[in-house]
Amino acid sequence: MANLTDLSLYIHIPFCVKRCRYCDFYSETGAGVELIDKTLNALLLSLDVSIRRLKPENIGTVFIGGGTPSIIAPASLDRFLRILNSRIGKVSEFSVEVNPESLSRDLLEVLSANNVNRISMGVQTYDADLLSWLGRPAGVEALDRADNMLEKYWQGRLSRDLLASLPGKPDRLQKDLNRALIGEPGHLSLYELTVEPGTPLAGSLEDLKQLPDEQSALDEWFTAMSFMAERGYDRYEISNFARKGDESRHNLTYWRMRPYLGIGPGAASTVPLDDRIIRRQEKRDLISWLSNPTGSYTESILTSEELALEHFMMGLRTSEGLSVNRFRAVFGMEPAEAVPCTVDRWVSSGMLISDSASLRPTSEGMDLLESVLSDIAVESGKTRWPDLCLWPQP
Ligand code: SF4
Repeated sequence: MANLTDLSLYIHIPFCVKRCRYCDFYSETGAGVELIDKTLNALLLSLDVSIRRLKPENIGTVFIGGGTPSIIAPASLDRFLRILNSRIGKVSEFSVEVNPESLSRDLLEVLSANNVNRISMGVQTYDADLLSWLGRPAGVEALDRADNMLEKYWQGRLSRDLLASLPGKPDRLQKDLNRALIGEPGHLSLYELTVEPGTPLAGSLEDLKQLPDEQSALDEWFTAMSFMAERGYDRYEISNFARKGDESRHNLTYWRMRPYLGIGPGAASTVPLDDRIIRRQEKRDLISWLSNPTGSYTESILTSEELALEHFMMGLRTSEGLSVNRFRAVFGMEPAEAVPCTVDRWVSSGMLISDSASLRPTSEGMDLLESVLSDIAVESGKTRWPDLCLWPQP
């Protein structure tokens, strides 16, 4: 296998002010400065060991997410980012997730001084009742304060996250979109609220009864899609909208199935190693992860079929779709040769487009991805996948 020329890096900060009622990302609450600093040191150690093992020629993008990275005290974050920068060199996109309640001018200055060029802010909604229903740590005042601060003190790229399919009045999402697009951020993520098993939301029948019915949720979604298009934002991935050139380069590496290293409790990686493609999963438990930050993970070799299904699953989320050349280079066949019946069926119904450059969803097809993927999963079981697939770089 060729050298690892370009690697993307994800760093998971496993701390939050409080747990939101719908969230199933891994994070702990109530951490003090000492535990946070200890974790930051452990993350740097884990990064060093992984880099020595993988030997990437270049790190292309970095995303620090969580959890709530902005919970880190500015002085600690400054120290962490300085050391991190000395290890990774100049990257083309360096994003940090922030939450409104912990955003400060000092924090923004630390980010700017340390090459961070993109902020992704978790808003979810600007509606006071819904913020409390979701159990968000920020109320509307914190959101106002954070938006003002971004306007005054942040010169870099900006994305905001919102949630769809929440209870409430039919025009709620429209109001949130209007507000989130003030200042013309280059990027917006709009996720449908999903009820994850084991979360407080999933355990409350009373709250579940308030969720919109399927038709209302669809109406709201399609109205939002039209509005974003009118405002000049391209839906380049199922839940992500950007002005031209402002797409998340880091997330595109996931959707294009390029190698990425994830460090920190709960993080996953997909990397080439010893002529195999490896999925690495770090433990979702801070204390046990801290006891061995360089080795608290499991690794498995992805089979060709697993890797192919992930190519379909990730590539068909995007408007650009799967590159035919890339798929052929990895699997020795084109996507339409791998699952011909499925491609024929969904092309005929106008949900997929298949040509010599790519296999990609139409805008209607993006919303039917689950059905397309379930057909692909059935048909790929009959495909003769190669024993060993290549992962050409770049
Ligand atoms: S702040 Fe974000 S990561 Fe933390 S609990 Fe809420 S949704 Fe989850």
